[in-house]
Amino acid sequence: MTVEIDRNSGFCGGVIRAIEGAEKLLAENGLLYSLGAIVHNEAELARLHQKGLITVYKENFKAETGAFPAEPFFGEDGNDAGAAPRILLIRAHGEPPQTYIQARELGFEVVDFTCPVVLNIQKSIREAAELNAPGGQIVIFGKIGHAEVLGLVGQVGGKAVVIENSLQLTDALSDGRIDTSLHIDIFSQTTKSPVEYEEICRMLAQKMASPDLLTVHNTICRQVASRHKELADFARTHDVVVFVSGRESSNGMVLSELCKKENPRTYCIVDASGLDASWFSSDDNVGVCGATSTPKWLLEEVASRIKNLH
Ligand code: SF4
Repeated sequence: MTVEIDRNSGFCGGVIRAIEGAEKLLAENGLLYSLGAIVHNEAELARLHQKGLITVYKENFKAETGAFPAEPFFGEDGNDAGAAPRILLIRAHGEPPQTYIQARELGFEVVDFTCPVVLNIQKSIREAAELNAPGGQIVIFGKIGHAEVLGLVGQVGGKAVVIENSLQLTDALSDGRIDTSLHIDIFSQTTKSPVEYEEICRMLAQKMASPDLLTVHNTICRQVASRHKELADFARTHDVVVFVSGRESSNGMVLSELCKKENPRTYCIVDASGLDASWFSSDDNVGVCGATSTPKWLLEEVASRIKNLH
């Protein structure tokens, strides 16, 4: 049996930047808060937690006022973190403007590791809304409730329609949430499938009162877009594919589906403990790959465990 790790899998630039930044701050302070998981990978989170990273969640916000709770944050392990230095890291997904204001009002020093690609999209959304006001509409193709999408919607005070698929587009068109007689700027979450986004834009273009009223913004991350094609090739050219990804990774879900489509002998695991020897035969050529949030060290660990199975 041969085992090969996909050389294109592993953290994307935005995640590398945020994790390197966090490790530097942890080396200096020994403690750092991250608003939401810095990466959607349980094993990597556990590694950073050992170094002093505490993940705090939006659920700590008071939903009715949009404010942080008056009492100190509690870490994921339930320890009172109120007495520690209050440095709050904004992860690569980004946040709505309100988050920065509220965090500073509560005395946090905010360190912003929003991916530059996401920052550019946030800026484009603000500009599009301003350019086409009044009456212009912003449509975002993305996962409802995903942190990056919330950050994008927050750029225009929530005045955007989010659709997850073509069915939701059809619904939004028929119930009038999207009005095709007015100007529309459409954006995509960075990690969506390029093929699906193209299809959504094509459907929308067909419904517009005039083609000039639709502006399509090409906002799928280039690193993600190129990975789709490379990963499809990788999945096709191996007998068995082991896809490693955290359960919460949106990109992981999209890429694992792509692998399954290309190769029915695709197995998805969170870490090496999920491996099953019955998946492999001794003459198989096995490919190990993962999402933009899967660390290389974890792929190596999985590959080495597979080699020891037979
Ligand atoms: S997937 Fe692309 S846009 Fe998203 S964090 Fe990574 S590099 Fe940035």
